[in-house]
Amino acid sequence: MYGSVQLLLSGVGPAGHLREHGIPVAADLPVGGNLHDHLFVPMTWCMKSARHRGTAPHFLAGMVAEAVRSGGISRELNPGQGFPGRAPLARELPNRATSVYHAVGTCRMGADERAVVDPRLRVLGIEGLRVADASVMPSIPGGNTNAPAMMIGEHAAGLMLGG
Ligand SMILES: Cc1cc2nc3c(=O)[nH]c(=O)nc-3n(C[C@H](O)[C@H](O)[C@H](O)COP(=O)(O)OP(=O)(O)OC[C@H]3O[C@@H](n4cnc5c(N)ncnc54)[C@H](O)[C@@H]3O)c2cc1C
Repeated sequence: MYGSVQLLLSGVGPAGHLREHGIPVAADLPVGGNLHDHLFVPMTWCMKSARHRGTAPHFLAGMVAEAVRSGGISRELNPGQGFPGRAPLARELPNRATSVYHAVGTCRMGADERAVVDPRLRVLGIEGLRVADASVMPSIPGGNTNAPAMMIGEHAAGLMLGG
């Protein structure tokens, strides 16, 4: 996915942006324009039971919901009481959101003007060049990205072998 930079440096990207940086344009494509990532916001609660004390990452939401339901939480520590109501919290969230390093989508696969590669992973307008990594995902999957990236690599090998 971070390899999309190599395409930009080779002149495959948004023409105006490449010219701004003095890079000759080989293909005017929206490389980088479809960046998606999973974000999360750390939250911390004080639990009545010491066994459950600690910071709950996003994937422990079910456990936290159960603790709330059963009265196991004594106090919210973070974000805490400084953001009463949804609106102040919504304003604060961008300051607290952090990446979980699942960036995808900068060389979107598709058949429209937002596509960088076609459904056979060929870079549009460039002969003999394919992209086979997380950057071709049109949008971010609901789960982790490593296994889908490996699947894309395997699929690309099949395509190149004529599959
Ligand atoms: C810190 C971190 C933790 C993560 N944890 C998880 C996790 O727990 N579970 C999960 O599913 N996903 C996780 N991910 C995401 C997952 O690693 C990526 O989605 C996946 O590796 C993307 O695969 P890729 O092939 O697109 O890119 P990459 O895996 O980044 O592969 C790109 C490869 O290209 C090579 N390369 C780059 N430039 C050049 C060049 N100029 N010439 C030659 N080679 C080059 C790089 O060395 C690298 O080997 C994590 C990512 C990070 C950064």
